[in-house]
Amino acid sequence: MTHELPNALNLRTDKAHSARMYDFYLGGKDNYEADREAAARVAASYPAIFVCARENRAFMHRATRVLARDHGIRQWLDIGTGIPTKPNLHEVAQSVAPDARIVYVDNDPIVLVHAQTLLNSSAEGRTDYIRADVNEPDTILRSPELSETLDLTRPVVLSLNALMHFVTDAQDAHGIVRRLMDALPSGSALALSHCTPDFDPETWQKVTDIYNQAGTPVQFRDKAAVADFFAGLDLIEPGIVVGHRWRPATEDGGADREDGPAPSDADVSLWAGVGIKP
Ligand code: SAH
Repeated sequence: MTHELPNALNLRTDKAHSARMYDFYLGGKDNYEADREAAARVAASYPAIFVCARENRAFMHRATRVLARDHGIRQWLDIGTGIPTKPNLHEVAQSVAPDARIVYVDNDPIVLVHAQTLLNSSAEGRTDYIRADVNEPDTILRSPELSETLDLTRPVVLSLNALMHFVTDAQDAHGIVRRLMDALPSGSALALSHCTPDFDPETWQKVTDIYNQAGTPVQFRDKAAVADFFAGLDLIEPGIVVGHRWRPATEDGGADREDGPAPSDADVSLWAGVGIKP
């Protein structure tokens, strides 16, 4: 990263950003003092945040493989991509289906700085990146990068991993997901994970306060509100479950978790599911 680039992009390193706090939880290096300070406050209240972040990533890997392998889907629209982390979604999808096509979307300039890493597609496949906000779904759907990369007459996975808790009810989170799914054809899928206060409301109130104070509005939702994102879709097995319980690696043939005891539901505190559009 050069010194000019961050300034030109106005990274606002003085302020904590959700993408960089998440990078810190995953052990990445693309975070700054303000991010680490806010992330440390989250970890002080919720020490399992590192487990939650890792299990969230592992759910994305498994859901991507299942949709490519068992459902034959070859296209993904991944919104709230995050700072690149090996393996990225396209690497997982293209390991099953080398011709898979992925459009990544994030609104944080730090992700744009690293977007090149998201563009190293297999020769048979294709990836692209759009800097956009999920609160403007029509901007995403109308963008030329999307129509050049994805064929919206064929099934697409809408991948919203650990994103929608950054969109409040006042911003019409459910309406946004509906609008995006409405643009996709039958056979498309919604793969979604979402942090929840259900297992430890007191801790998650503290986490909510820390994000809100850091200038990032959050709304962590209960299971019923997360299930509402899947309205009109057919949930595939095992339905909406805590992230690490969604087709664990042993069933899947993948190795997403190091050997060791499974985490608790409260540690993971993340609802996850995959639904198919009939
Ligand atoms: N999906 C990745 C990263 C999750 S972190 C994963 O599950 O591993 C959440 C990401 O959502 C961050 O990169 C943040 O910049 C992005 N984000 C937050 N609000 C957003 C918005 N309104 N529009 C687009 N992206 C957003």
